[in-house]
Amino acid sequence: MRGAEAARELKELRAKRILIRAAELGYITEVRCGMPECFCPEELGGPRHFEPVSAELSDWSPTHEYFPIPKREGGKATPDNTILAHRLCNRIDYSKAVAEITPERSRENQKSSRDGHRGERVV
Ligand SMILES: [Zn+2]
Repeated sequence: MRGAEAARELKELRAKRILIRAAELGYITEVRCGMPECFCPEELGGPRHFEPVSAELSDWSPTHEYFPIPKREGGKATPDNTILAHRLCNRIDYSKAVAEITPERSRENQKSSRDGHRGERVV
């Protein structure tokens, strides 16, 4: 069955149940980082390099990423909305997505207008 091998590997990596389930159902067919941009260096093995989940939480341990519907858009942790990603790659992509949403500019404007008021001190 497609994904059976991936499921076995994910079990060995102590991945989350949802990832193993997704592999068993054939949504994950290989143990490979599914993020658009993978940050794992080629020396380590690149997107195919995973380290078992442990207390120290390696950057390269397997994590569950909500895809194609992101968690912030109401995506559910179901096998058909699951991709496998490195912990680090998952985190970096998420912070990028958040940065796009955060109105960084408007906050900057508020700050500079506050500074302006401080300058209008009566002498
Ligand atoms: Zn990765």
